[in-house]
Amino acid sequence: MKSKCFEARVLTLFPEMFPGPLSYSLAGKAMENKIWNLNTINIRDYAEDKHGTVDDEPYGGGAGMIMRPDVLGRAFDENNPGREWKKIILTPRGKPLTQKKVREISSKPGVIIVCGRYEGIDERFISSRSLDEVCIGDYVLSGGEPAALILIDAIVRLLTGTMGSKESLIEESFENNLLEYPQYTRPFDWEGMKPPEVLLSGNHSEIEKWRRYMALEDTKKRRPELLISEKK
Ligand code: SAM
Repeated sequence: MKSKCFEARVLTLFPEMFPGPLSYSLAGKAMENKIWNLNTINIRDYAEDKHGTVDDEPYGGGAGMIMRPDVLGRAFDENNPGREWKKIILTPRGKPLTQKKVREISSKPGVIIVCGRYEGIDERFISSRSLDEVCIGDYVLSGGEPAALILIDAIVRLLTGTMGSKESLIEESFENNLLEYPQYTRPFDWEGMKPPEVLLSGNHSEIEKWRRYMALEDTKKRRPELLISEKK
């Protein structure tokens, strides 16, 4: 049975930023093959005045402008896909994005993503529409669009049919809370450095053992918190 096409619906003030990098390589091919499709919605189309106003000054004063809840509310409600979809707003105040979350989103029929701009978004819009607040890292971008591109790219890789081999997904970093083991390819001798001998042995169980060991050791050294969260 052919699976249904996954839809990424993005609410943004800059629809021209999409699909951008998503039209290349794996994601681009997957879009061509109708494994997923993209629908961008311009938030400004839902402004009511002749200037297309989407933001206003913060109550309580302070720097910057805040995106208005009435404009966002209309944009969201008129494009709300229903209960089965994941509904996400990108914000530095959200929970950190993880591979587990990406996997959860990729199992849905689609995702609606709200991109913020300026100083942020009126809190009433976020809470009234029960949006899942997601942060892509502990740094501040000037807008949600680059974060949406990253999120969609990570989702599309997991959709059935995007990647040639399912194995490449199983062994990747963050699956089983481990980083991937180190990889090597030709030339055999590069600047005096050679790949570990075990990889040339042809002994698959030894290779697997070595890879598992290296994945564990590298995770301990580089990202010990991943192993701690595995025990929880
Ligand atoms: N004043 C906000 C704060 O300190 O939390 C930052 C606003 S930022 C300049 C504008 C928009 O970029 C945000 O509303 C959000 O949509 C997006 N953004 C910035 N950094 C992000 C991050 N790390 N993860 C997800 N979205 C981010």
